[in-house]
Amino acid sequence: MAATRQTVAQTLEEVITWRPVLAPVLRSFEPLLTAQEELVGELAENLKKQGVKLPQSQAERMEQGVSLLADATFAGFAPAVRTSAEKLLPLLCRMDAVVPYKAAFTDFFLKSDKTEAQKIEELVAAVVSGNKKEIEGLAEKIGVDPLVLHFAAGFVVAPVLHALTVLVASAGDEAPWEVGDVWRQGYCPVCGALPTMGWMDKPSIDEKNAFLAGGGGKKHLHCGTCGADWKFRRGACPACGEEGSGVMELLRESGKAAHGERLDWCTKCKSYCPGVDLREREFVPNLDALALGMMHLDMVAARRKLKPVKPSFWNMF
Ligand SMILES: [Zn+2]
Ligand SMILES: [Zn+2]
Repeated sequence: MAATRQTVAQTLEEVITWRPVLAPVLRSFEPLLTAQEELVGELAENLKKQGVKLPQSQAERMEQGVSLLADATFAGFAPAVRTSAEKLLPLLCRMDAVVPYKAAFTDFFLKSDKTEAQKIEELVAAVVSGNKKEIEGLAEKIGVDPLVLHFAAGFVVAPVLHALTVLVASAGDEAPWEVGDVWRQGYCPVCGALPTMGWMDKPSIDEKNAFLAGGGGKKHLHCGTCGADWKFRRGACPACGEEGSGVMELLRESGKAAHGERLDWCTKCKSYCPGVDLREREFVPNLDALALGMMHLDMVAARRKLKPVKPSFWNMF
């Protein structure tokens, strides 16, 4: 039986009962994360109708570590990005860092002429590739601070990429990057971003004969940029690829129950990825919301001079 998946709101609610001190910051981001969550289904429908989908996966390219969206042009993505911006911009523009650029962002994202559409597609490509130079170039054209553009664009583009991933994942039993274990990289098989979270799966039950089909504890990584999940070797670092006994260490809160939450950090490159062992939890959290809810561990990591494998919006500024 599939474990119950929590929504953004349910995930944050649970975190707040455990760590009430985080309530103000979690509550301030909840409307945005919830709006993103709601957009994914709507955007998946739109993309499907328009015939926009992920490039076909090729086992050989995947084995070589080429993500599905590497070299994608994102032509035809502008309408979906606009739909996302319509819903998210009003929420983003409540934030102090974004307020000065409200007019510039509204102009850029919501105008529907051809040149803007092309720039929007360039922005999607820049977000996916993480190319700072391209983002800086676009920021100058739009007249906004590059860091704020990166922050806002990350929010607006993510639901569109999530929708693409959902379309692929819902098309078959197994995502193409899970078939035959062709994907062995620490970065995302869909968009190429580094993971924002790791998770260990729960034991699975074979419903037909009620026997335990697997003991669980298999390691997966989760991409906060496009929502993809993929299997990864436990003893390997997703950032530098180093592998072996003693490479990865665990950091978890002592004393009170940790609810399966921990940081996996690499003794070689000193980067860390937050993670959750689902065997220690009743429900399956929304991983993007949980990543935010684990910011107390980000602070512990920062004190130890560790750096996140993938910086998230709450440690961008
Ligand atoms: Zn991704
Ligand atoms: Zn490493």
